Amino acid sequence: MRQGLWLNGLGRFLAAAAALLYPERCRICDVERATVAEGYVCARCRSGRYGVRWIRRPFCERCGLPFEGALTTRFECANCRGLGLHFSKARAAVLATGVVRDAIHRYKYHRALWHEPFLARLLTDQAVPELLCERWDWLVPIPLHPVREREREFNQAQRLAKRLSAASGIPLNVRMLLRVEPTKTQTRLTRRERAANMRQAFALRAGVSVCGQRIVLIDDVLTTGATASACAQVLRAGGAGDVCVWTVARGV
Ligand SMILES: [Zn+2]
Ligand SMILES: [Zn+2]
Repeated sequence: MRQGLWLNGLGRFLAAAAALLYPERCRICDVERATVAEGYVCARCRSGRYGVRWIRRPFCERCGLPFEGALTTRFECANCRGLGLHFSKARAAVLATGVVRDAIHRYKYHRALWHEPFLARLLTDQAVPELLCERWDWLVPIPLHPVREREREFNQAQRLAKRLSAASGIPLNVRMLLRVEPTKTQTRLTRRERAANMRQAFALRAGVSVCGQRIVLIDDVLTTGATASACAQVLRAGGAGDVCVWTVARGV
């Protein structure tokens, strides 16, 4: 009994200490209330001027790039025509701007894992209804090179894909693709250099058959699509029936 009381007291002390260390406050504005389940991004930051911008039609049917104006015919943008992309379509939930861009940057480069529920929810809200209308066999995260993964200590694509798998029931496969070359960081490269950098970067794991499989590649952000396209090329060459891409955000 005495021990129980002591443990109760300890529990209260730990809860109070956790509240001090991790207050339920938005990590973007540091003012409004936001919970762990919200990924510490408050309602005001989500809806404000720099808030979440959902991607709606019209967009490029191939790469998902949104654009202004009305369209009556199927449209592919100049980016796609120039690159010869190997996936059948890429879709993103939101634009990589404002609060989304900030949260992704902190999540990836500063290990701000508390933003993950926010980012994963954007992806699942948009992707699950669409994915369940189609028939897909696997969710496959874009692999990081082992060296990069050790530096970062996690693969953001894999973590997001795991949450999407739980929400959609489509199984996760992290053993299909390998990253075989440490690629230079993409951010300062031109489009042409990115495509060249990505060629030869991925391989099918030995002994894996993808024949006839319908595969959804998952990543946090899609910019030109060169990385996802290089993965799709490998999967298609291995006999995959279809390869599409879903990302949380679309770089613009
Ligand atoms: Zn906020
Ligand atoms: Zn396009």
